[in-house]
Amino acid sequence: STEPIFLIGARGCGKTTVGQKLALACGFAFVDSDRILQERAGKSIADIVALEGWDAFRALEAETLRAVTRPASIIATGGGAILAAENRAFMRASGSVFYLQAPVSVLARRLEVSPEQDQRPTLTGKPIDEEVREVLAQREALYREAAHFAVDAARDPDAVVAQILAIALPGAI
Ligand code: ADP
Ligand code: MG
Repeated sequence: STEPIFLIGARGCGKTTVGQKLALACGFAFVDSDRILQERAGKSIADIVALEGWDAFRALEAETLRAVTRPASIIATGGGAILAAENRAFMRASGSVFYLQAPVSVLARRLEVSPEQDQRPTLTGKPIDEEVREVLAQREALYREAAHFAVDAARDPDAVVAQILAIALPGAI
């Protein structure tokens, strides 16, 4: 199948890291929707939010998600793409959706180690572990609802890639 594969999950769950490796492993294109969004807008997510607000950013996010969806692609979505019911329905109908699930402690540690990897402004202004806990509490049910499959993303990236490949493209390995 050349159906696109969507990776969803909180900041730091490994959408970019796993997505790049997955694309290499199966020959699909890798698309980072946050990166494309920033290229299209000509500014960083932080600037879009500061200048135009979260609603404008969410609208761009929804538009970008549709624009990047094509066959034979691994699509790393923005952490909040699942907030809109239309985005959840769109992803489920357009391809396979994988939730990269990791506990708060793992996510917080990754974000602390490499805070610059993600240019999104803080959502709550609170310490990183508290923010991760709050955001996950708000979104966990939506990630589950949007996903066809949940995978344990606290493991080594190669193990995550192998599991997704085995589910999405069983003939490829
Ligand atoms: P996302 O795109 O979901 O926000 P990233 O892929 O940017 O997450 O990963 C955030 C940070 O965590 C990076 O420093 C990355 O190297 C690290 N990381 C991602 N996945 C894993 C993993 N499975 N194991 C260990 N570290 C990881
Ligand atoms: Mg990313």
